[in-house]
Amino acid sequence: MTIVVKLGTTLIVGPGGRVRRSVLRERAREVAGIVAGGESVCIVTSGAIGLGWQRLGLPKRPTEVPKLQAASALGQARLQQAWDRAFAPHRVAAGQILLTAADVSDRAAYLHLRNAFEAIFKAGAVPVVNENDATATDEITFGDNDALAAQVAVLVQARLLILLTEVDGVYTRAPGTPGAELLRDGASALEAEIGAASSLGTGGMGSKIVAAQMAASAGIPTVIAGGVGKDVLLPILQGEPRGTHFRASNDEVPPFKLWLRFGKPASGRLIVDAGARTALIEGGASLLAVGVVSVEGRFDAGDAVELVGPDGEVFAKGLAGADAQQIASRKRGLEAIHRDRLVLIG
Ligand code: GLU
Repeated sequence: MTIVVKLGTTLIVGPGGRVRRSVLRERAREVAGIVAGGESVCIVTSGAIGLGWQRLGLPKRPTEVPKLQAASALGQARLQQAWDRAFAPHRVAAGQILLTAADVSDRAAYLHLRNAFEAIFKAGAVPVVNENDATATDEITFGDNDALAAQVAVLVQARLLILLTEVDGVYTRAPGTPGAELLRDGASALEAEIGAASSLGTGGMGSKIVAAQMAASAGIPTVIAGGVGKDVLLPILQGEPRGTHFRASNDEVPPFKLWLRFGKPASGRLIVDAGARTALIEGGASLLAVGVVSVEGRFDAGDAVELVGPDGEVFAKGLAGADAQQIASRKRGLEAIHRDRLVLIG
């Protein structure tokens, strides 16, 4: 079984843009122990931009995309080197995998990638994953590394996703403010809609909760916990109460549908009528073009589209059976999306 562990930039980059070697050392030690025990671990690491921008000679973190790309190119080299060094005393090899969303949007490429991960695990090595920020553009970004980590967890069919950060988990309000309490149960974090609130924005907790929900819907539980200190991963694996736990949903979702939902970006939207919506949700039917009220975006057959009901809510995603123009023609008998190529959302 596989565990995916993600470390955020604040855990990786210290003052002056230096690597927080003690954090990497301790986590590598724990990961090596887990691997020696027979489980596989995949690391998802941020920090490329954080380690790189000072090397560009800039006074502060840039905002322009080309400079961010350049910073990540310089920082990624250091980041991988730092992980290599952290694993070296344990004789565990670290392999670098840099991904963009485009790499997982093609089903065949997705499956090849899974094979590559498996081969790395088989060798007793640890894949160290980051987004390929130097080539990612707005259209092909995962958004953030929390989302990337959840995607990777789905890809490698992980049994657990651990999102490590500077704070000990999800708090009821900004950690350190009076009355702030650590929530042990992710369900209460969702109820309190902490993900949407900006009070915790500094910790980027919103994106972690979204990532945990994504993993949950793929049957993978998540722990959000503090990543500093001597023992972090082992106590979590031993079931000690650490951080905030999100349970997995019990629904068995087939891998193809998980890829469709999370791996394949949507190129357009189909607004459907109430009858079509009911037929899809309750009848397990395919979507016919006559049920489509309007078509947004340009796409070809085989591209992913979101399905929107009359209430304006996205309720499904599917691979279009025809291109945007053909579907917009609402030709009688034309299948817009086959039921096997459709996943319900929510
Ligand atoms: N890929 C970015 C980096 O390595 C981090 C993105 C994130 O943390 O969400 O700097």
